[in-house]
Amino acid sequence: MQPLQEHECFSCRSPCRVVPQTERDGRVVVGGIYCENEACELYHTDQRNYGKPRTSITTFHGDSSSRYAAFGKPSQGEENVPRTCETFLAVLRRDRKLEFGDLEDLSANSEHPGIDARARRPDGSYLNMQVTRALPQDLYEEQGRTAFVLRKHAPLEPASMLRAAIESKRQRACSNITLLIDAKNAPHLAFLTSAHFVSLHGEWAMREGWESIWVVGSSFAKRLDLVHGPELLPESWPRA
Ligand SMILES: [Zn+2]
Repeated sequence: MQPLQEHECFSCRSPCRVVPQTERDGRVVVGGIYCENEACELYHTDQRNYGKPRTSITTFHGDSSSRYAAFGKPSQGEENVPRTCETFLAVLRRDRKLEFGDLEDLSANSEHPGIDARARRPDGSYLNMQVTRALPQDLYEEQGRTAFVLRKHAPLEPASMLRAAIESKRQRACSNITLLIDAKNAPHLAFLTSAHFVSLHGEWAMREGWESIWVVGSSFAKRLDLVHGPELLPESWPRA
């Protein structure tokens, strides 16, 4: 099959494999751009959106190590609160059949210290949430300065990064607040790491003093303060 266009790898500059994709209307478009040089750090990474602001690319390797690249200035922390909480509520509705009223953003409200947002349950009680970002502050600062960051992670490192995200909020822990770690842009932390985390740090996380702790991705949420076993809801929550 002839490539649609020539494409050079952004990293090693070798020719890439351009994979065509046929749209419903019959048009043929670029479905993916992949470096085939095994020694290259972008090997088998889709390079279609490489370098575009607000793009991040995560590559997983067979040994559970990963590589993370992000482009453009990072979003402000406040922007992440409603998005993370809405995703969390949607996952609880979808997977647990739990119902909630509208989300109230309290991040600018000093009457509710430690609560970024809350949602009312049918029994009148509230699910109180605090949101923190998954990636370390120095990464956001570097990305803010240079509009580009690149990190390579050893297999157990993402679990340590989740632990550090929880430790950074230790002073604000409260038994009626659920801590949400926003990992929408950090799939290397959210997807593969939650089981790792639970086996390594789950019992430690249970003693940190939160009602519960979850890492929230783009369409799922994983509870972290657990001993290894089936995922459970906090005892204090009303049953569905
Ligand atoms: Zn390459």
